[in-house]
Amino acid sequence: MSQKPFEIDPTKPRDAKSVNIIGEGMMRVTFTDPLEDVHTAVMVISGCAWVDTTDGVVLIDTLINKVPAGMVLEKISGKIKYIIYTHGHMDHIGGASVFMRDNPEVIASKYLPDRLEKYQMTAAHRSLINQMQFNLPPIRRPVDYVHPTKTFLGDMTFTLGDKTFELHTARAETDDAVWVYIPELKAAFIGDLMIGVFPNIGNPWKPTRFTLDWAKALEEVRALDPEYVFCNGAGVTYKGKQALDALDANIEVIRDMHDQVVKYINEGMHITEMIHKVKVPDHLKKSPYLREIYSRPEFFVFNTYRWYHGYFDHNPAHLLPRPEKEVMKEIFGLIGDDNKLIKRSKELLENNQPQLALQVLDVLIQADPDNIEGRKLRIELLKTIGDGDKCLMSKNTWFYFIKKDKKHIRSIKAKKT
Ligand SMILES: [Zn+2]
Repeated sequence: MSQKPFEIDPTKPRDAKSVNIIGEGMMRVTFTDPLEDVHTAVMVISGCAWVDTTDGVVLIDTLINKVPAGMVLEKISGKIKYIIYTHGHMDHIGGASVFMRDNPEVIASKYLPDRLEKYQMTAAHRSLINQMQFNLPPIRRPVDYVHPTKTFLGDMTFTLGDKTFELHTARAETDDAVWVYIPELKAAFIGDLMIGVFPNIGNPWKPTRFTLDWAKALEEVRALDPEYVFCNGAGVTYKGKQALDALDANIEVIRDMHDQVVKYINEGMHITEMIHKVKVPDHLKKSPYLREIYSRPEFFVFNTYRWYHGYFDHNPAHLLPRPEKEVMKEIFGLIGDDNKLIKRSKELLENNQPQLALQVLDVLIQADPDNIEGRKLRIELLKTIGDGDKCLMSKNTWFYFIKKDKKHIRSIKAKKT
């Protein structure tokens, strides 16, 4: 692996104990030339690559926005004839408008335009979830997407100068994935089908991802026996045996955990038990290709479960539930005492069960949202959980709610004065 993914260690955050992907230092771009005619630009969570041919340049992905994309443009010599989107996530298409001077053909999956439409339709919601997932400020301006000029499904090949570009669509992290193979270089550019760490198969905010198809797409890449694999945009480069080992580790962990989830669904196991029961196979737990620093196995389980299972968890109380707040109020009324809930939550925290404490305390928070002592205790619980969390997405979430609780306490105090 030529570069480390997520160079900034999310366990050692620079500010507010969370990781801001567009904060200071995060727009830094590192350039590499991993093999003749192939160049990459690498940022903290994304990357892109461009391939020189004897008849112009093919750019694969475009980085997250115009700022780093502009730095890439300065490095490219030759006319950009094609841009290929490996999928429609913003860190892959956000910089595209910078590269349009030569009117390149922009190629993507047939489903990518639907994604852009969805992003526009749900812009407010996406701004909120990005604040939680990535510790981003609210997004105020619409992004000027560059729509593909050519879309396809299945396989598509084009030749430019001395190189052949074999494109394949896949359903994996998204429904609009495209991966590229250049036989002359024995190089595969697979977007986010791998990200250098534990695969981002489950994401608590996002629609269901395609677990089994994801493994199959990686198996297709593996069958080509590639010498180079560029992934995480092109932020991570694997070569030779490492490329094959990384593919094997990802394929095995996906298939193994997928099969565990299916087995437990067939046994009727509840999802809240399943997320603790499904495990990464022992021999892969320490794999350098599967470090759990971005996503995590519990997210994988939720995701795969949802692909095969509806919302109903076979508890009749949950088929057509009353609003949660109403139920919590009833339970709180029976307990009849803030102190009991606070005391028990503290005991659970002392007993090293902060998650259970968080859920017990939730009865109080939901029944009495302005309970300052309850909010303060929740901050303590979230800090405890967050400090021990190495996964970027969950870690950022705990700290997002700490900030929110602090703000809520300030607003309650302001109302009282
Ligand atoms: Zn992605």
